[in-house]
Amino acid sequence: MFETAIAGSLPKPEWLAETNKLWPKWMAQGDSLKQAKADATLLWIKAQEDAGLDVVGDGEQSRQHFVHGFLEQVEGIDFENKVTMGIRNNRYDAQVPQVVAPLRLKGRVHAFEAQLARAHTKKKLKFTLPGPMTIVDTVADRFYGDKVKMAMAFAELLNQEALALQADGVDIVQFDEPAFNVYMEEAADWGVKALERAAQGLTCTTAVHICYGYGIQANIDWKNSLGHEWRQYEKVFPALAKSSIQQVSLECFQSHVPMDLMALLEGKDVMVGVIDVASDVIETPEQVADTIGRALQFVPKARIIACTNCGLAPMSREVAEKKLQALADGARIARERYR
Ligand code: ZN
Repeated sequence: MFETAIAGSLPKPEWLAETNKLWPKWMAQGDSLKQAKADATLLWIKAQEDAGLDVVGDGEQSRQHFVHGFLEQVEGIDFENKVTMGIRNNRYDAQVPQVVAPLRLKGRVHAFEAQLARAHTKKKLKFTLPGPMTIVDTVADRFYGDKVKMAMAFAELLNQEALALQADGVDIVQFDEPAFNVYMEEAADWGVKALERAAQGLTCTTAVHICYGYGIQANIDWKNSLGHEWRQYEKVFPALAKSSIQQVSLECFQSHVPMDLMALLEGKDVMVGVIDVASDVIETPEQVADTIGRALQFVPKARIIACTNCGLAPMSREVAEKKLQALADGARIARERYR
C-alpha cells in the first residue's frame, strides 16, 4: 500500500554537469564522462534506497535533458544545427535539433544506464522515456510536415527502445508527456494513441507522467496564469482511462488541480504528486500523509502511488535528498494512518 516513487529526474552532481540548469553542460568528455554518469547513477540509486523508496530509477543522470537524451540516438536528426523554437505553446524558448530525414534508431539508447541500474538494485526499477507528443513539441520539423505522422514515427522508435529496456529487466516503463497538459484536445485526439503505440507489446508495467513542468521560472509564471482551478487533466484523463497504460501521474501538493479529477482515472494506478518541485521548502512527512489522505477520497488505497509532482533535476542535491526522505517517511505515516 502507498508505494513510493519519483517522477524521474534527479539533480546531477557538480562533477558531472552544471548544476541548477535544465540543459546543463557536461563537466567531462569521452570515457571520463561515461564513468561520471555511471558513478552518479549508482549514487542516486543508493540515495533512493536509503530514503526507503519502493521504486527506484537512474535519476536520468546519463541524459542532458529528458527529451534530447533520447534524440541523440536517432538517425534523421540534425543535432549540429539547433534552432531556437518556442516550446509548450511558446511558454519558453529552447534550442532544439531539427528533423531532416526519415527517423531510425542508430542502436540502443539507454542500455548502459538501464543495465547498470538493474545490476545494482533489487528494488522495482522504473525507467523513463519522453512521450511521442512531447518529443514532437521539442524538435523542429523540416521533413514530415505532419505532427501526427512524425509522432507515430517517434512512437515506433520509442517502442523499440521500451521493449529492449524491458528485456534489460526494467519493471516499469514510463513515458513523460508534459505536452498533454498544453495541447489538451490534441492529446485526447491522437496523443494517447501515439503513446499506446510507444507502449505496444510491453508486458512490464506501463506509466505516463503528465505535469506542469519543472520548477523553472517560465513554468512558475505559466502556472500563475492558469487561475484558481487547473483543469487541464480533465480533457485527457478520460482518454487515458480507456487506454492500455496502467499508471498515470498528476500533480497535487501545492498545485491548483482539483483532487476530484483523479476519479476520472478509474481502473488506473494513480501516481499522486505529494512533493512540490517548484519550491525548496521541504515537505513534512505529515503533509505528505495528508495529501495521500485527500487522494484516498477518489482513488482506492491499493491504487495510490506516492510520487513527486515532477522531476527534481534543476534543484540542489541537498534539497532533493531531503524531499526523497519526506516522501518515504510520509508514505510510512499514511500506511499507519489509513490502514
Ligand atoms: Zn514532469
